[in-house]
Amino acid sequence: MTIPILLSALAMTLIVGVRYLIASGGFDLATRLRCPGLYHGMGRQIRMEIGWSLASAAVYGVPAGIVAWGWQNRGWTLIYTDVHAYPLWYLPLSVLLYLLAHDTWFYWTHRLMHRPRWFRIAHAVHHASRPPTAWAAMSFHWVEALTGAIVIPALVFAVPIHAAALGVVLTVMTVMGVTNHMGWEIFPRWLVHGPAGRWLITASHHQRHHDRYRCNYGLYFRFWDRLCGTDAGLGGFAR
Ligand SMILES: [Zn+2]
Ligand SMILES: [Zn+2]
Repeated sequence: MTIPILLSALAMTLIVGVRYLIASGGFDLATRLRCPGLYHGMGRQIRMEIGWSLASAAVYGVPAGIVAWGWQNRGWTLIYTDVHAYPLWYLPLSVLLYLLAHDTWFYWTHRLMHRPRWFRIAHAVHHASRPPTAWAAMSFHWVEALTGAIVIPALVFAVPIHAAALGVVLTVMTVMGVTNHMGWEIFPRWLVHGPAGRWLITASHHQRHHDRYRCNYGLYFRFWDRLCGTDAGLGGFAR
């Protein structure tokens, strides 16, 4: 029994690692086309970001692999594959619930990570990206990666979700993780600076977190930042 669990953990680590390389590599290419020279002279930092991110892939991959094994072999989790097991309107709702729960967890653990002790131990790694690049998406110390790695594996035991909806959640997670660190805004002005942008987080919001540190802690939504008075608005891209 131990071998299949280990293999599942290894497979998931590979999937997370390759997913990271493809997503960050793709947006790195987009950056080179859209903003030539933006990452000029940042080779050393990028190599460090890739190193920490690949280590994080293992931290994310192991719990996910164990839970995936239990889902397939022991009937663990509330992940379902029959699309009619719940009403169809529940599909988008479940995606929203996962994103809201992940966002809430991230906001509060991220604030904790900015307390001096935790910052020194773990979060300084993520902020060593100055400014971040598309490769910084998973550039976390393993202690911090651990706090992120347990969210989705825990949620699948608590909130039912269709396997495809879970795929949507993971895609949003991957794309936003990369684009928020890319150093330029990929989303249209009408969205970022319009009514929806008052509640959604894109690169313009997270860039300011990397510039000023003690503000804009959220992941997907500005709800917690606005409620707790830590929202410092949208930043610019100085380079
Ligand atoms: Zn960041
Ligand atoms: Zn931070």
